[in-house]
Amino acid sequence: NSRQQLIIDLIRDVPDWPKPGVVFKDITPLLEKAEGLRAAVDELCAQAPGPIDVVVGMEARGFIFAAPVALQLGAGFVPVRKPGKLPGRVIEQQFSLEYGHETLTMLHDALWPGARVMVVDDILATGGTVAATASLLKQLGAELVHVAVLMELGFLNGRKALDAAGIDSYSAVV
Ligand code: 5GP
Repeated sequence: NSRQQLIIDLIRDVPDWPKPGVVFKDITPLLEKAEGLRAAVDELCAQAPGPIDVVVGMEARGFIFAAPVALQLGAGFVPVRKPGKLPGRVIEQQFSLEYGHETLTMLHDALWPGARVMVVDDILATGGTVAATASLLKQLGAELVHVAVLMELGFLNGRKALDAAGIDSYSAVV
Protein backbone atom coordinates (compact mmCIF):
# COMPACT_ATOMS: atom_id res chain seq x y z
CA ASN A 1 0.00 0.00 0.00
CA SER A 2 1.02 3.68 -0.18
CA ARG A 3 2.04 3.82 3.50
CA GLN A 4 4.41 0.91 2.99
CA GLN A 5 5.87 2.56 -0.11
CA LEU A 6 6.47 5.78 1.84
CA ILE A 7 8.26 3.82 4.57
CA ILE A 8 10.45 2.11 1.97
CA ASP A 9 11.25 5.44 0.31
CA LEU A 10 12.12 7.18 3.59
CA ILE A 11 14.41 4.55 5.15
CA ARG A 12 17.95 5.26 3.98
CA ASP A 13 20.73 2.71 3.43
CA VAL A 14 24.02 3.77 5.02
CA PRO A 15 26.85 1.52 3.81
CA ASP A 16 29.71 0.56 6.13
CA TRP A 17 28.04 1.88 9.29
CA PRO A 18 28.56 1.37 12.21
CA LYS A 19 31.35 -0.81 10.82
CA PRO A 20 32.71 -1.93 7.44
CA GLY A 21 30.50 -4.43 5.60
CA VAL A 22 27.27 -3.47 7.43
CA VAL A 23 24.51 -1.63 5.57
CA PHE A 24 22.63 0.31 8.25
CA LYS A 25 18.93 1.10 7.77
CA ASP A 26 18.61 4.73 8.87
CA ILE A 27 15.13 5.77 9.98
CA THR A 28 15.92 9.46 10.56
CA PRO A 29 14.62 10.59 7.10
CA LEU A 30 11.32 8.84 7.95
CA LEU A 31 11.10 10.64 11.31
CA GLU A 32 11.81 14.04 9.77
CA LYS A 33 8.73 13.96 7.54
CA ALA A 34 5.30 14.38 9.14
CA GLU A 35 3.74 12.01 6.60
CA GLY A 36 6.53 9.48 7.16
CA LEU A 37 6.06 9.45 10.93
CA ARG A 38 2.28 9.16 10.47
CA ALA A 39 2.64 6.27 8.01
CA ALA A 40 5.05 4.48 10.36
CA VAL A 41 2.77 4.72 13.40
CA ASP A 42 -0.31 3.71 11.39
CA GLU A 43 1.47 0.70 9.88
CA LEU A 44 2.75 -0.43 13.29
CA CYS A 45 -0.83 -0.32 14.63
CA ALA A 46 -2.36 -1.96 11.55
CA GLN A 47 -2.29 -5.62 12.66
CA ALA A 48 -2.65 -5.21 16.41
CA PRO A 49 -5.07 -7.91 17.60
CA GLY A 50 -7.84 -6.82 19.96
CA PRO A 51 -7.28 -4.69 23.04
CA ILE A 52 -3.68 -4.01 24.05
CA ASP A 53 -2.92 -3.05 27.67
CA VAL A 54 0.70 -2.05 27.24
CA VAL A 55 3.08 -1.33 24.36
CA VAL A 56 6.69 -2.18 25.20
CA GLY A 57 9.52 -0.37 23.39
CA MET A 58 13.23 -1.13 23.51
CA GLU A 59 15.96 1.46 23.98
CA ALA A 60 16.50 3.56 22.04
CA ARG A 61 14.82 3.65 18.62
CA GLY A 62 11.94 1.47 19.84
CA PHE A 63 10.94 4.29 22.21
CA ILE A 64 10.31 6.66 19.32
CA PHE A 65 7.59 4.47 17.86
CA ALA A 66 6.23 2.57 20.87
CA ALA A 67 4.91 5.66 22.68
CA PRO A 68 2.79 7.03 19.78
CA VAL A 69 1.58 3.49 19.00
CA ALA A 70 0.50 3.16 22.65
CA LEU A 71 -1.39 6.46 22.44
CA GLN A 72 -3.08 5.42 19.21
CA LEU A 73 -4.14 2.04 20.65
CA GLY A 74 -5.27 3.44 23.98
CA ALA A 75 -2.53 1.51 25.80
CA GLY A 76 0.22 2.38 28.26
CA PHE A 77 3.94 2.41 27.46
CA VAL A 78 6.71 0.48 29.22
CA PRO A 79 10.41 0.94 28.41
CA VAL A 80 12.98 -1.85 28.14
CA ARG A 81 16.42 -0.43 28.87
CA LYS A 82 20.09 -1.21 29.10
CA PRO A 83 21.40 -1.96 32.62
CA GLY A 84 21.74 0.88 35.11
CA LYS A 85 19.10 3.14 33.60
CA LEU A 86 15.85 2.22 35.36
CA PRO A 87 15.31 3.37 38.95
CA GLY A 88 14.62 0.62 41.48
CA ARG A 89 14.34 -3.15 41.29
CA VAL A 90 14.62 -4.58 37.79
CA ILE A 91 14.40 -7.95 36.08
CA GLU A 92 17.10 -8.78 33.54
CA GLN A 93 17.62 -10.88 30.44
CA GLN A 94 20.96 -11.52 28.77
CA PHE A 95 21.27 -12.35 25.11
CA SER A 96 24.05 -12.99 22.61
CA LEU A 97 25.18 -10.52 20.01
CA GLU A 98 27.53 -11.24 17.12
CA TYR A 99 30.37 -10.44 19.51
CA GLY A 100 29.70 -10.72 23.22
CA HIS A 101 26.54 -10.22 25.24
CA GLU A 102 23.92 -7.59 25.89
CA THR A 103 21.53 -7.29 28.83
CA LEU A 104 18.05 -5.77 28.79
CA THR A 105 16.13 -4.73 31.89
CA MET A 106 12.59 -3.81 32.89
CA LEU A 107 11.15 -2.56 36.18
CA HIS A 108 9.99 -5.58 38.21
CA ASP A 109 6.47 -4.19 38.66
CA ALA A 110 6.01 -2.65 35.17
CA LEU A 111 3.60 -5.42 34.02
CA TRP A 112 1.18 -7.84 35.63
CA PRO A 113 0.14 -11.45 35.03
CA GLY A 114 -2.15 -11.68 32.01
CA ALA A 115 -1.40 -8.18 30.72
CA ARG A 116 -1.87 -8.07 26.94
CA VAL A 117 1.38 -6.70 25.62
CA MET A 118 2.56 -5.61 22.18
CA VAL A 119 6.25 -5.08 21.41
CA VAL A 120 7.34 -2.38 18.95
CA ASP A 121 10.76 -1.75 17.43
CA ASP A 122 12.13 -0.08 14.32
CA ILE A 123 14.11 -2.89 12.68
CA LEU A 124 14.04 -6.65 13.18
CA ALA A 125 17.48 -8.12 12.48
CA THR A 126 18.36 -11.47 14.16
CA GLY A 127 15.37 -11.23 16.49
CA GLY A 128 17.61 -11.41 19.58
CA THR A 129 16.34 -8.14 21.02
CA VAL A 130 12.69 -9.14 20.64
CA ALA A 131 13.35 -12.64 22.02
CA ALA A 132 15.09 -11.20 25.10
CA THR A 133 12.18 -8.80 25.59
CA ALA A 134 9.74 -11.71 25.28
CA SER A 135 11.65 -13.43 28.11
CA LEU A 136 11.28 -10.34 30.30
CA LEU A 137 7.51 -10.33 29.68
CA LYS A 138 7.35 -14.03 30.52
CA GLN A 139 9.18 -13.44 33.81
CA LEU A 140 6.37 -11.07 34.80
CA GLY A 141 3.60 -13.37 33.55
CA ALA A 142 2.47 -10.96 30.85
CA GLU A 143 1.07 -12.19 27.54
CA LEU A 144 2.97 -11.17 24.39
CA VAL A 145 0.16 -10.93 21.84
CA HIS A 146 1.90 -9.13 18.97
CA VAL A 147 5.21 -7.77 17.71
CA ALA A 148 5.32 -4.97 15.13
CA VAL A 149 8.40 -3.59 13.38
CA LEU A 150 8.82 -1.24 10.44
CA MET A 151 11.28 -3.40 8.53
CA GLU A 152 12.83 -6.82 8.82
CA LEU A 153 16.25 -7.71 7.47
CA GLY A 154 15.12 -10.94 5.83
CA PHE A 155 18.59 -12.42 5.36
CA LEU A 156 19.03 -12.56 9.16
CA ASN A 157 15.92 -14.76 9.60
CA GLY A 158 14.64 -12.90 12.65
CA ARG A 159 11.01 -13.58 11.81
CA LYS A 160 11.66 -17.29 11.43
CA ALA A 161 13.13 -17.29 14.93
CA LEU A 162 10.04 -15.52 16.27
CA ASP A 163 7.72 -17.91 14.38
CA ALA A 164 9.60 -20.86 15.88
CA ALA A 165 9.08 -19.37 19.34
CA GLY A 166 5.34 -19.03 18.64
CA ILE A 167 5.48 -15.22 18.61
CA ASP A 168 3.03 -13.42 16.30
CA SER A 169 4.83 -10.69 14.39
CA TYR A 170 4.22 -8.14 11.65
CA SER A 171 6.77 -6.26 9.60
CA ALA A 172 5.39 -3.28 7.67
CA VAL A 173 8.07 -3.69 5.02
CA VAL A 174 9.86 -6.90 4.10
P1 5GP B 1 18.31 -7.91 16.49
O1 5GP B 1 18.29 -8.03 17.98
O2 5GP B 1 16.98 -8.30 15.86
O3 5GP B 1 19.46 -8.59 15.86
O4 5GP B 1 18.55 -6.37 16.15
C1 5GP B 1 17.50 -5.47 16.23
C2 5GP B 1 17.86 -4.29 17.06
O5 5GP B 1 19.03 -3.68 16.58
C3 5GP B 1 16.77 -3.26 17.03
O6 5GP B 1 16.59 -2.72 18.33
C4 5GP B 1 17.24 -2.23 16.05
O7 5GP B 1 16.96 -0.92 16.50
C5 5GP B 1 18.74 -2.45 15.96
N1 5GP B 1 19.21 -2.57 14.56
C6 5GP B 1 19.87 -3.58 14.00
N2 5GP B 1 20.17 -3.33 12.72
C7 5GP B 1 19.68 -2.11 12.47
C8 5GP B 1 19.66 -1.27 11.31
O8 5GP B 1 20.16 -1.58 10.22
N3 5GP B 1 19.02 -0.07 11.42
C9 5GP B 1 18.43 0.32 12.60
N4 5GP B 1 17.80 1.50 12.63
N5 5GP B 1 18.45 -0.44 13.70
C10 5GP B 1 19.06 -1.63 13.63
